[in-house]
Amino acid sequence: MFRADLHCHTTMSDGTYTPQELLLSAKELGLNGLSITDHDTIEAYKTAPQIAKSLGLRLGSGAEFSCVFKGRNVHVLAYDFHLDDPHLLTLCERHKQRRTERNQGILERLARLGMPIFEEELKKGGTESIGRPHIAFLMLQKGYVQTLSEAFQLYIGDRCPCYVSVKEIPVEETLEIIHGAEGKAFIAHPHLLDKMSYIEELLKLPFDGLECYYARFPKNKESRWIKLAEKKRLLKSGGSDFHGKVKDYIPLGCSWVDEPTFNQIFQKPCN
Ligand code: AMP
Ligand code: ZN
Ligand code: FE
Ligand code: FE
Repeated sequence: MFRADLHCHTTMSDGTYTPQELLLSAKELGLNGLSITDHDTIEAYKTAPQIAKSLGLRLGSGAEFSCVFKGRNVHVLAYDFHLDDPHLLTLCERHKQRRTERNQGILERLARLGMPIFEEELKKGGTESIGRPHIAFLMLQKGYVQTLSEAFQLYIGDRCPCYVSVKEIPVEETLEIIHGAEGKAFIAHPHLLDKMSYIEELLKLPFDGLECYYARFPKNKESRWIKLAEKKRLLKSGGSDFHGKVKDYIPLGCSWVDEPTFNQIFQKPCN
């Protein structure tokens, strides 16, 4: 049976598998298709299309963009866009700049609380899109926290004392750029957005789809989002949100879409 995991991260953002390792694992697991959805970067697609082709895997363009809507962080999955679209590439550049400034702010606050981390340490991995999980990992390594989730819960999670947000990019603008690149925009993991009224407000924007299948969702949790997608005439997507060792309890391919769904989303596969 055809299975495609449409939500996974690589070392280009906060995953721990390189694009090649991710594609090889997908092949070993018997997956047939994939979309790599790194946070705010499409750097993985410099090599992924050729590798996927050699492995006989179908690959659709993807990214997970960080946005704000009504003062809250929202993740938007972009699919099936042109990888060479100049405005989308500029969006990725803006995010890189935003992350550099934001991370500096977070590090300053951590230092004030007696938990110094140096920017060079963060940059050492050579990651294109450096995120809070990288900071959390260094906090763990240095013994400032006992677990990664402690780092988020006490210090760097949204609305925590060391979290800083700068130059956040609105959802509306992100959707315009995705559509300008002939892509499709999906609300990622809607269950993480607390209130239903908030999701209803979001869905007044021109979204194309909703992530209905996610990680290790039980069937009854999925059905809530499937019903909403059908009511709003939205496409349905799904994937594991695989991050490798950072979230070792979520295996690649634990959530996926079938072939008709893959074909509805991806009209211009990139290999
Ligand atoms: P960033 O992209 O730098 O804003 O970091 C957000 C990422 O951090 C998310 O995509 C998750 O992978 C991770 N994250 C956010 N909150 C938590 C949490 N409470 N525990 C563990 N990881 C988290
Ligand atoms: Zn992540
Ligand atoms: Fe996300
Ligand atoms: Fe994700």
